[in-house]
Amino acid sequence: MSSKDTSPEDAQLMLHALRVHQIELEMQNEELRRVQLELDAARARYFDLYDLAPVGYCTVDEAGLILHANLTASALLGLARSELVKRPISRLIIQADQDIYYLLRKQLLESGEPQSCELRMMAHDGTSFWAHLAATAAQSSADAPVLRVVLSDISARKRAEQQLIASEESLRQSALHSQTILDNMADGVITIDAQGLIESFNKAASTIFGYRLEAVLGRNVAMLMPEPVRSHYNDLLQLSQSTGPASIVGLPREIQGQREDGSIFPMSLSVSRISRARQPIYIGIVRDITQHRQDEEEIRRLAFYDPLTGLPNRRLLIDRLKQAMATSRRTGQHGALMFLDLDHFKRLNDTLGHAVGDVLLQQVAIRLKDCVREGDSVARLGGDEFVVLLEGLSIHDHEAAAQTEAVANKILDASGQPYDLLGHTYSSTPSIGIVVFMEEHEAMDELLKKADVAMYQAKSAGRNTVRFYDSATQAAASAHAELEKDMHRDLADNKFVLHYQIQVDADGTPVGAEALVRWNHARLGMLAPAHFIRLAEATGMILPLSQWILDTACAELATWASQPQTARWTMAVNVSESQFSRADFVTTVATALQNTGINARLLSLELTERMLVDDVANSITKMNTLKALGVGFSLDDFGTGYSSLSYLKQLPLDQLKIDQSFVRDVLTNPSNAVIARTVVALGHSLGLTVIAEGVETAAQCALLSELGCDAFQGLHFGPPAPASELARFIGKNTA
Ligand code: C2E
Ligand code: MG
Ligand code: MG
Repeated sequence: MSSKDTSPEDAQLMLHALRVHQIELEMQNEELRRVQLELDAARARYFDLYDLAPVGYCTVDEAGLILHANLTASALLGLARSELVKRPISRLIIQADQDIYYLLRKQLLESGEPQSCELRMMAHDGTSFWAHLAATAAQSSADAPVLRVVLSDISARKRAEQQLIASEESLRQSALHSQTILDNMADGVITIDAQGLIESFNKAASTIFGYRLEAVLGRNVAMLMPEPVRSHYNDLLQLSQSTGPASIVGLPREIQGQREDGSIFPMSLSVSRISRARQPIYIGIVRDITQHRQDEEEIRRLAFYDPLTGLPNRRLLIDRLKQAMATSRRTGQHGALMFLDLDHFKRLNDTLGHAVGDVLLQQVAIRLKDCVREGDSVARLGGDEFVVLLEGLSIHDHEAAAQTEAVANKILDASGQPYDLLGHTYSSTPSIGIVVFMEEHEAMDELLKKADVAMYQAKSAGRNTVRFYDSATQAAASAHAELEKDMHRDLADNKFVLHYQIQVDADGTPVGAEALVRWNHARLGMLAPAHFIRLAEATGMILPLSQWILDTACAELATWASQPQTARWTMAVNVSESQFSRADFVTTVATALQNTGINARLLSLELTERMLVDDVANSITKMNTLKALGVGFSLDDFGTGYSSLSYLKQLPLDQLKIDQSFVRDVLTNPSNAVIARTVVALGHSLGLTVIAEGVETAAQCALLSELGCDAFQGLHFGPPAPASELARFIGKNTA
C-alpha cells in the first residue's frame, strides 16, 4: 500500500496500532526479562543446592569417568571441578577398597536398583577418609547411561564406631583379665543373687567342690553345703536381706562344705554383700582348710605325742595325771603310776645302732599298750623311759597295789618275750617302779619322782623286776641326791682315794693287791663303795670316776714296778658295768697302759658275770683285744651270778674269784664248802687260777687251801689300806 492511497486518518490509525503493538512487545519483552531473571535465579538456586549440598554428587559415565561433580565433591576430594572431570572415579578410592566399588557398580548395573557401600577414598593431598557411596543408574541428557553417585564423608562416624569397638575390646579385655585373676585365685569365689542362685563360680571353686561350672550356674548355693548348715545358710541369707548388713555376720567363719561326690570337708567362708542395679549380690570367698586342719592336728600331735612311738609325751601325761588325781578324789578309787626303764638299752644303742634302738622302743610301746585297759595311759618320757598310768583301781590300798602288781607282772611277761629288731633277735627287760596314789594330796612331780625312785630300786635289785615306792626308799633317795651333788664336787677336788688289799699265794706270800675305791667325804667320813658306786652308775658319774681309778691304779702299779720287792706284784682293778659297756672301753685301758708304761701282764681287770651275759659276743671281743695286749681278767663275785658253763668256757679269763659269801660260812655250812670245792674244780678244769676273797681266819684259809684254792684275799691277810701302808707286806709271808 502506498502513501497516496493512505488517508491521514488511516495513517493515524496504523500508527496508533503500531504503538500499541510496540507497547505490547515491550511488555512481552519485560515479561520475558522477568522470566529470564526468575530462571536465572532458579538456576542459581539449583546450582547452589547442587554445588553446596552437604553431600558430594558425581555423575560417572559408562567408562567410570567423572562427567560432573558438585563443589562438595570437589572439596571432599581436594580437586577443582575441572580436575575431577574425566578422572576415573576408581582412582579416587584407595587401592584396598577398590573391589568394593567394582562390586557395587556390578550389582547396580545388574539389578538396576540403587546400591550403597562404605569405603575409603583418597583426597588429593593424600589423606584418606571414610566415604559412604550411594549410586543410582540414570540416563544422561544425551541418552547415554550414567551413574549418579552420592558420596558423604563418614569418617567421624567411623571413628566413633572404632572407638566404641576399641572400648568394647578393652572392656572385654578387662573382663577377661578379671576372670583370669579369679580363675587363678587359690580361693574359690562364688557370687550369688538375692535368691541364693549361683551367678559365677571360679576355677578354684570348681576344684574345691568338684562341680563343673555348668552344673552349678543358676542353682541354689545351698547345694554346696551339707545339712544342717544348708538350711541354716538360707536363713542367714534371708536375715541378711531383711536387715541389710554389708556382710553376713552371723555366719561362722569355718563351716562344712560338700563336694559333688558327697564328701564333706572343712572350709573357711567369708561373705560380703554388694549391690548391682539395686539388687543385692553376695560374694562368697571359700577356702578348703582340710590341709590347714591336718597341719593343726599335726602340730597338736607333735606338742602332745612322742613322734617315735605315737605315745603321749610328758606334757600330755601330766595332763592326764592331773585328771586322774581329780577323778580319784571324786570316786575314792586309787590310781597307780608306773615308771618303766629298759635294762641295758644304752648298750643296745651302742652295739646295734640307734635305728635298731628305735625299733625296740616302738615295739615296747605296742606291748605296753596291749597290757593296759582302755582308760589307762602309756606315755614315753624320752629315751627308754615309759610311764604307765592306771586309773579306777580299788578303793582299798592293798587291793589297788595287788591290781597294779598284776599289770606290772603282765608287762614283765610281755616285755620278756624276744623282739625281732630288723632281723636281730633281742631280749629286753624293764625295771619298773610303782607308786600307788589316791586323792590330790600330792604334787604330780612328787609322784613321778617317787615312781622314779622305786624304778631305781628295781634296777638295784637286779633289774627285770618291780618295786613299789616306800618312804624309806624316798629318804635314801633324798640323801642320794645330796650325795650326787657332793660327788661332782669331790671328784674335781680329788677327794676319792684308792686303798689296796693285799692278795697272797698258797704260801702266804704277797703277789699283788686289789684296788678298792674310797670316798673321803667331808661330813660323812671315809665312805665305802657300797655307798656311792650304784649312785655313780645311775648318774653317769661312774665314767669319770672309773677313769680316775684306772689311771691312779696304773700309776701305782708303775711305782711298784720300779721297786725290786714289788716289781712282780699284780694290780686287780674293779671294772664297773657302764664302764665296760662303753664302746671306748678298750681304748681307755690301752691309753692308761701307754701313759704309765706299765707291763700289761701285771694288770688284772675284775669283771662280774652280770656285765658279760647281756652281750657275750661283744664282751669276748673286748676282752680278747685287751688280752692281746697282755691284760688279765678275773671273774669277781663268782657263784652269785648266772654261772652258765657254756659262756664261761668262751671267755678269755685268767682267774675265778670265789665270792666272800661262800667263804664266810665255808667252815660251818657244808654246802658252801661243796660250792667252793666245785668252783675250784671248775676253774682248774678251764685252766684258770682260783682266788678266795673275804678270808677272815686262818681256819678258812686252811680249808680253802685244802680245797685247792690258788690265792687268797681278806682281812686275815690285811684290810684295804692306803698305798703308803703296803710297805709292811713287802718281803713278808703272811700265812
Ligand atoms: P669286791 O670287788 O668283791 O671287793 C671286795 C670287797 O670285800 C671290798 O669291799 C673289801 O673291802 C671287802 N673285804 C675284803 N676283805 C674282806 C673280809 O675279810 N671280810 C669281808 N666281809 N669283806 C672283805 P669294798 O671295798 O667295800 O668294795 C665293795 C665292792 O665295791 C667291791 O667288791 C667292788 O664290787 C666295788 N668296788 C670297790 N672298789 C671299786 C672300784 O674301784 N671300782 C669299781 N667299779 N667298783 C669297786
Ligand atoms: Mg673286786
Ligand atoms: Mg668280790
